[in-house]
Amino acid sequence: MAKKENKFKNYDITTQAVHTGTDYDEGTGAVRRPLHMANSYKLPDDLSTVNYSSTDLLMYSRNGNPNQHWLEEKIAALYNADDAIVLASGVAALHALFWTLLKSGDRVVYPNVSYMAVYRMFHELFNKKFNVETVMVDMTDLEAVKKAVTPGTKLVHIETPDNPTLGVTDIEAVAKIAHENGAILSVDNTFASPLNQQPLELGADFVVDALTKFINGHGDAQGGAIISNDLKTMDRIRYEAQVNVGSVISPFNAWQIFRGSVTFPLRMQRINESAQKIAEWLERRENVTFVSYPGLKSNSGYEVAKRQMKNGYGGVISFGVNADDKTVERICAELKVVTFAVSLGHDESLIFPQPSYDERINLYPEKFRNGFIRFSVGLEDVNDIIADLNQALLALGL
Ligand SMILES: *Cc1c(COP(=O)(O)O)cnc(C)c1O
Repeated sequence: MAKKENKFKNYDITTQAVHTGTDYDEGTGAVRRPLHMANSYKLPDDLSTVNYSSTDLLMYSRNGNPNQHWLEEKIAALYNADDAIVLASGVAALHALFWTLLKSGDRVVYPNVSYMAVYRMFHELFNKKFNVETVMVDMTDLEAVKKAVTPGTKLVHIETPDNPTLGVTDIEAVAKIAHENGAILSVDNTFASPLNQQPLELGADFVVDALTKFINGHGDAQGGAIISNDLKTMDRIRYEAQVNVGSVISPFNAWQIFRGSVTFPLRMQRINESAQKIAEWLERRENVTFVSYPGLKSNSGYEVAKRQMKNGYGGVISFGVNADDKTVERICAELKVVTFAVSLGHDESLIFPQPSYDERINLYPEKFRNGFIRFSVGLEDVNDIIADLNQALLALGL
């Protein structure tokens, strides 16, 4: 596909979020573009011109649909990038990237703390099914990264801040190590979001963002994006993973996420501010054993985060309490404003305990192995959120 056009390139990200990818509807003059739920589109009279694997021609919804394409313009704009591909979920985007880039015999270096599906893909699927050499490393330790990334490594994948411990990886430093060894660098930017972190500017080749989270922001649609300036590889991803594996997003979800994305920069500013206040409050609160948030000066990732993040440090905070798994569950169930559910980046605050029997618990730094809770800050009044956390802790004697 051609480089995405962005008429609003020179405007602030808030203006781009409102205007990029939308226009008057050609048929009706409506000020909103329509939702096209069609599977098929009219074929040209001369079929000899049709390439059935094309993602440019509107022919069949899996090859691409208008709502997907408009959302792709928006996501490319938010990342100041030449191209974006929007697929059915964040994991579909991660898989599409790995599936396209890797082949049997390749070496990939991936983080010891990452989104669960990345761990599964590299710890048990790509290695065992396809004979990809997968090497797990602590990405916050640059000396360890240097050792793991050997010449000829195909891909280095990082996530920063990481899910669920909020560890911070130095994107610029890892990009340098990857490129010196001929490797590609991909960055999962979901936790930071494009308002706070722009990995392509720091040397990444590909960015993945789970649109399900902050960019949609309303907890009602799943989607994921791959963002890059490498147009040739992006077209390979469309061909190999979208058209021929089938991970395209539904037009309805693309439409829904497009709508959510309009207010993304405003919501994220608010979430940044609230999260900083809540993290500082948790740090002061007795009976909280640790707080992991890149915006806290006490955090080991603070200096790197300060350098590579702007506007704020995102909406997820991990913290600990000195309590067993059952008590932690009861704290979560006691909350009245905060919702007890998985996921993050919604309008409502979400809380999710990370139990000590999690199969990956020993991969996390020591302090995370007991009473570990992941908290996603929502749009409620910050004092209401803090009061709610406080009453739930008090209710369990903490
Ligand atoms: C949620 C998440 C994903 C996956 O997104 P889905 O839409 O749930 O598939 C990937 N990476 C990170 C960091 C996430 O938090």
